[in-house]
Amino acid sequence: MEKKSKHQASFENIKSQLKIIPEYMELLFPFAHSAHIRRHRAKIIASRVGLLSLLFAVVIPLWIIIDFFAFSWPTWAILATLRIISAIVFFALYIMHSSCRSLHNAYLLLGGMMAIPPVFYLISQPFLIGLETNALGTAVSSAYALLPFIVVAGLSVFPLTALEVLITGAAVMTVVILGVAQQPTFDLQQFITTVWLMIVVIGVSVFSGMSQLSYMISLINQASKDMLTGAFTRRSGEEYLDLQFRIASRTGASMSLLFMDVDKFKSVNDEFGHEQGDMVLKQVAKGLNACLRRSDQLIRWGGEEFVILLPNTDVPHVLPVLKRLSELTLGNRPDGKPITISIGIAELATDECEDWIEMVEKADHRMYDAKKSGRNKSVGPKPELNISNIINVEG
Ligand code: GH3
Ligand code: MG
Ligand code: MG
Repeated sequence: MEKKSKHQASFENIKSQLKIIPEYMELLFPFAHSAHIRRHRAKIIASRVGLLSLLFAVVIPLWIIIDFFAFSWPTWAILATLRIISAIVFFALYIMHSSCRSLHNAYLLLGGMMAIPPVFYLISQPFLIGLETNALGTAVSSAYALLPFIVVAGLSVFPLTALEVLITGAAVMTVVILGVAQQPTFDLQQFITTVWLMIVVIGVSVFSGMSQLSYMISLINQASKDMLTGAFTRRSGEEYLDLQFRIASRTGASMSLLFMDVDKFKSVNDEFGHEQGDMVLKQVAKGLNACLRRSDQLIRWGGEEFVILLPNTDVPHVLPVLKRLSELTLGNRPDGKPITISIGIAELATDECEDWIEMVEKADHRMYDAKKSGRNKSVGPKPELNISNIINVEG
């Protein structure tokens, strides 16, 4: 089960207390991301690490030719060895990127890739400082001193939060300070210039990473959310159901599913037009969303049918959800009558489902039972989940 870390839980707490705009927080802290965003971000980070690692694995050994002409023996040979080792590590990262499944692994890949140039820099600096070389050698040596800056600038191609770029930037800054400490003489002016330049590059990377992230989040939301209701589309919902089902089967966790259908919805369209019908659907989704926890997922299954997936929820814990639903009003139809829904419920263990498809089918059948027995009802695998007048029409 994707457990919420302590940080994530306390972050959610602070967020709800302060009512900070979540979209903005998503760009600052990784804890603010939903499981859906985390999964997609892991994929994007891993694929970019893969692409860049392959590029470096090819380009870095080619530079040996330049080192050969720039430096004398044994400097060029030491650098060539470092280059070949770096290229092997880059190639290993390229091989590993395709099996990356989680954000944790994506961080390891990114961290591994980002660590190579600063390590190269720290190891190569002692050989290059004070070395008598030709003009080409001097130029190449100063290019090596730029490696840490290139790393921080390189972060800007990844969809990262401000906190992630700042942490990486601070680590690279430490390497730069260590590099300065290796110099035989300390030049305060050069030190201040170097640190200042590093701060500027980190600042630019923070904003660039955030804008990459913001673009990625809006693309994911556009592709996975239904335009009208803001609920997940059936396609992304099925993906999520599949993932949650596999997690629950592996960990033995519980999981419940509510299949809902708006009662007598066709008559809204027929009597008041399609636009009014759309308004009703929006209202229903807003109402349903209001009684869900962060880990629950609202999916627009089709037309006026919605699925709510409740991870980590067994039969007794579906009851509070139904209670919240019964306390809710979904608003009125254009004719002033309350909007009601019929609900079918399935629970993983009680229904002994083989896969998520079977769970949806069971919940769908029970929803039809709820319709047949008078609508505005819930029907579940256990009698305590069979509730009449589920949406309080008097309220
Ligand atoms: P029941 O209580 O048995 O569910 O009756 P119903 O009228 O809700 O059932 P039915 O399945 O016959 O009606 C569904 C209607 O939903 C038919 C279709 O025109 C309408 N519909 C589907 N998608 C949309 C949509 O995106 N917008 C609007 N306005 N209507 C839609
Ligand atoms: Mg229907
Ligand atoms: Mg209906």
